[in-house]
Amino acid sequence: MEEVGTGLLDRLDAMQRVAASAPGGPLLIVAGPGTGKTRTLTHRIAYLCAELNVFPDQCLAITFTRRAAEELRHRLDGLLGPVAEDVTVGTFHSLGLTVLRENAAAAGLPADFRIADDADRATARGEAGDDDERYTALLRKRDLVDLDELLTLPVALLKGDRKLVREYRERWKWIFVDEYQDVDAVQYELLRLLSPPDGNLCAIGDPDQAIYSFRGADVGYFLRFSQDFTDARLVRLNRNYRSSAPILAAAVQAIAPSSLVRGRRLDPARLDPEAPLVGRYAASSAYDEADFVVRTVDEMVGGLSHRSLDSGRIDGRATSLSFSDIAVLYRTDAQAAPIVDALARANIPVQKRSHDRLRDRPGVPAIARELRHAGLDGSLAARVRQAGQILAERFAVPTLDGSGAVRPEDVRTAVDLLTPLARRCGDDLELFLNQLATGAEVDALDPRAEAVTLLTLHAAKGLEFPVVFLVGAEDGLLPLRWPGSEPDDDAVAEERRLFFVGLTRAQDRLYVSHAGRRARHGAERDTRPSPFLDVIDPALFERLDATEPRRPKDHQLRLI
Ligand code: ATP
Ligand code: MG
Repeated sequence: MEEVGTGLLDRLDAMQRVAASAPGGPLLIVAGPGTGKTRTLTHRIAYLCAELNVFPDQCLAITFTRRAAEELRHRLDGLLGPVAEDVTVGTFHSLGLTVLRENAAAAGLPADFRIADDADRATARGEAGDDDERYTALLRKRDLVDLDELLTLPVALLKGDRKLVREYRERWKWIFVDEYQDVDAVQYELLRLLSPPDGNLCAIGDPDQAIYSFRGADVGYFLRFSQDFTDARLVRLNRNYRSSAPILAAAVQAIAPSSLVRGRRLDPARLDPEAPLVGRYAASSAYDEADFVVRTVDEMVGGLSHRSLDSGRIDGRATSLSFSDIAVLYRTDAQAAPIVDALARANIPVQKRSHDRLRDRPGVPAIARELRHAGLDGSLAARVRQAGQILAERFAVPTLDGSGAVRPEDVRTAVDLLTPLARRCGDDLELFLNQLATGAEVDALDPRAEAVTLLTLHAAKGLEFPVVFLVGAEDGLLPLRWPGSEPDDDAVAEERRLFFVGLTRAQDRLYVSHAGRRARHGAERDTRPSPFLDVIDPALFERLDATEPRRPKDHQLRLI
């Protein structure tokens, strides 16, 4: 635990300190990528608790993803020690779930209502057809709540109950929202109910990283924060601690035509004169591009040294870079296949974020149910194991209770899948069930895993890596275009923001590549480099492709 008190803000720069120590009332922190938003947010919470006698249990910190919430919780633990546990940290969905659980009866739900999984939804949809009223009624009859309803039901409940609104405002006097640029209409309504117009609401974000409008997010809420909340204080953070100067310069030029931040400035804190330029590679095909990634990774991580990982050793020839420092980012999931194949052929370990939800895996719902009702004891991970055993025994012999659909092997796999999440949740069963219900993913992308990370640009938000490959920087992928349709200006602007998010994930080394031909929608076509590259000064790039046409690796030449 770090020392709390005067030294608390020492690790912040001047503007971060202004933001962290601002007095109560609405506060908007407009901050570009890599300017230390999470750092500032956690220090603000710690400062308020240590210096202004705010109680940790009066603080509510909301983020958009479970991973971001875990990261926030982890950093708060480091700053505040055990009392950090009293801060409520969660996603909008887990917040909605908390409100619903606490007021189930008032919302017309039984105390043990459950979140519908894909199978539940498919069944209800099958029975209800297009009839949305009926669909909800069917879910309700089975004590189920749809994921969207985790937000709409609490909003409806609070709207009709001023007393309840007062109670929550009394409980969470200090509210913090990260990535505020991605708030949607219902989340915004929930926030307005929880925070009065002059409340201690601290919103942090970057309008230039708004990339979720296709899901209903509206950057407009960010832009009109000072109209919605009275006497809002505005703090801007402009110093970027993440990226080398050439990477940052390229990113700032790339966003300029669509920037939503007046006079966007991002000053590099890192001023290494030796910093390499942005590598640019024009590949002939997606396969050539994949080879380029493999070659470069191989050189960086030290030639053949990684092969020794196969035999369980990391031997000599050590370099300071390891596979976990490297990420490959792409616009569409379909682009991953050739890269995964090429890396696998070169024996380079890969981890790819999966979007499959844990709760949709066979066996998982049964174990969660069992956990709730079987009265087990011990640590959460031990309880998951016991629940698995009970289920496996019950289903080893065919039963007549009608729920024999779970196979023992599914139960075993489910126990393996659930154990890491159980460990992360300690003894907190409610937290564990909340995380399952609100979409914990199958793979817990492990930042320390000794593997190259493959991610879509959307999934890369908020993360940073020493080395980043942004592949497929082509017209049609960035901006994304479907055959026969042209993206409108707003869509192009959002694609440009996505490109900006990608470029700004890199700390030391950034490679941008494009292929001259690529198969999409079942046909291979000639492609052009992304128009987003045109606004970047060519002097910031180092061309890595041969300037003359590459000589074909043709054995005929050797025959002479
Ligand atoms: P994004 O918009 O991409 O989510 P962010 O604003 O949340 O970026 P952080 O991830 O919090 O940025 O910080 C970026 C990096 O800069 C981190 O590695 C962080 O530790 C470092 N950093 C932030 N502030 C400082 C500081 N005052 N001194 C040194 N390093 C800092
Ligand atoms: Mg961040």
